[in-house]
Amino acid sequence: MNEKNELCPRCGAVKEPLSAEALEGSCFPRIWPGPCGDCVEKEREDAKIEESRRIIRRRAAEWANEFGEYDDTNPDHPRAIPGAKSALLASFRDCGKGVALVGPPGRVKTRLLLWLAKQMFMVGRDVHFITSAEFGRYAAGKFSHEDEYRERSVWELARCRECDFLFFDDLGHEKATETYCVEFKALLDERSRPKPAQPMYWSSNFGGQSLIDKFGDHGAAIVRRLDQLSTFVTA
Ligand SMILES: [Zn+2]
Repeated sequence: MNEKNELCPRCGAVKEPLSAEALEGSCFPRIWPGPCGDCVEKEREDAKIEESRRIIRRRAAEWANEFGEYDDTNPDHPRAIPGAKSALLASFRDCGKGVALVGPPGRVKTRLLLWLAKQMFMVGRDVHFITSAEFGRYAAGKFSHEDEYRERSVWELARCRECDFLFFDDLGHEKATETYCVEFKALLDERSRPKPAQPMYWSSNFGGQSLIDKFGDHGAAIVRRLDQLSTFVTA
């Protein structure tokens, strides 16, 4: 038996000889070259941690690339999200039903939506974020004569229907045209078809009758669907 103490080149510890089981049928010498078992294990753990950090960095870059960073143009709006609000919203994260944040401007509704969307995106969920104004442009863009814009619009509208978690900001912000209402109603129908329905997280400065009024003849049907897809939370 070679009882000469072999030292690990990494940590300098005396390497334990391999057990009889580990040696069974193997061509390893009792004392093997390279680092000790503990160091090999630690290297493996470090590599795993580095790999998950790499995934987080990559997803953060993808997020910034796709949705950008939130830029609030109104300096009077609060900068920070109150902890209680984020905790409340987090509690809805995996419950399968969406959330509607309804309240006056300056209640960090957009910031909350983006915060939740990014959290879900970072853990690999299929998330899409769109503002009501963008949705209106794409609803009209579907009929554009400009090929590139029409294709982009069709793609964006399809993403809204098909993504697992749709985030829709500032509903009712602009006057909803007939084109908008028809497209939005179709979106809600599509998302409520699967059982369970696909959650939708949205914000609006309007609730109740004032939201219904935003969509004219389609108002009642649209708000009824929204009610089925999301739990209302006063922001
Ligand atoms: Zn070692």
